[in-house]
Amino acid sequence: MDHLKNSECIFCKIVQGSIPCYHIYEDDTCLAFLDVAPLTTGHTLLIPKSHYVNLLDTPSFLIAHLNTIAKRIARHYLEALGATGFKIHTNVGKNAGQVVNHYHIHIIPYYPKNSQLNEKPQLSNDAFQDLASKIKLN
Ligand code: AMP
Ligand code: ZN
Repeated sequence: MDHLKNSECIFCKIVQGSIPCYHIYEDDTCLAFLDVAPLTTGHTLLIPKSHYVNLLDTPSFLIAHLNTIAKRIARHYLEALGATGFKIHTNVGKNAGQVVNHYHIHIIPYYPKNSQLNEKPQLSNDAFQDLASKIKLN
């Protein structure tokens, strides 16, 4: 398996730029972007730029780096979004709900009880873009 890229993989295509994303953060080894079917406002995916199928397939140094970045993104969202909590998780295998077979961490912000931001948002392309530029991490 070539871990650099998989030509069938939608997340590898996002890394290569052949599919667009709502960009949040990038460094040499990882990329974060908004989930296109968000569970709450600000639902973000964080992926390694290299293709690994899931957590079990990914070298530990990369898992450590992605978790460090997930923590930075979450801390940033406390301020940028007014989030007050998070679910941060990864699915391993289709029986656990993994659909995209390129390792990714879900960062799902939560807000005070009764906030509409806890609901599944229906966002236009423009609204996704506005949100991403508002909460981008530099
Ligand atoms: P999982 O079920 O853990 O494999 O999660 C895959 C996630 O990727 C889902 O939440 C999808 O909404 C999301 N997703 C699929 N395609 C894209 C895409 N092109 N851009 C952003 N998110 C995507
Ligand atoms: Zn991939």
